Amino acid sequence: MVLKAYKSGPVYQGRLEKGVDIVSGLTAIMQQNNIAAGMVSGIGAVSEAQLGYFNAQTKTYEKRSFQENMEIVSLKGNISTKDNGIFPHLHVVLSGRDFSAVGGHLFSGTVYAFEFEVIPFENTPFVRAFDNDTGLFLWKE
Ligand code: ZN
Repeated sequence: MVLKAYKSGPVYQGRLEKGVDIVSGLTAIMQQNNIAAGMVSGIGAVSEAQLGYFNAQTKTYEKRSFQENMEIVSLKGNISTKDNGIFPHLHVVLSGRDFSAVGGHLFSGTVYAFEFEVIPFENTPFVRAFDNDTGLFLWKE
């Protein structure tokens, strides 16, 4: 799933292989390295992706799939725990052949090429729980 995840000081850097889902690939790297809190960034390209927009009126995600090769202009996210599992929360900006950008919450994205950095936080657990006010799973501790 990952060729190499080098650790330099506190920072991990690596890449995911072509065809891997970015969300599950990054989750596996965090699990392998026991990273339960921290920050994530990445660049590269996807062959397809599913993004979400959280509709605050309905309190549900509206999802849209993009079935084309797109640049990952920027991927940014954080790492915490939800339901006792490691949970990466990832947002992304993608650009297509016409150079226009789309963005949103990343539900899935198939890697064409992807390079990432993960910066773990030590001794700072962030636990998500359902928040009635927003309809989102927010940090409660
Ligand atoms: Zn989000």
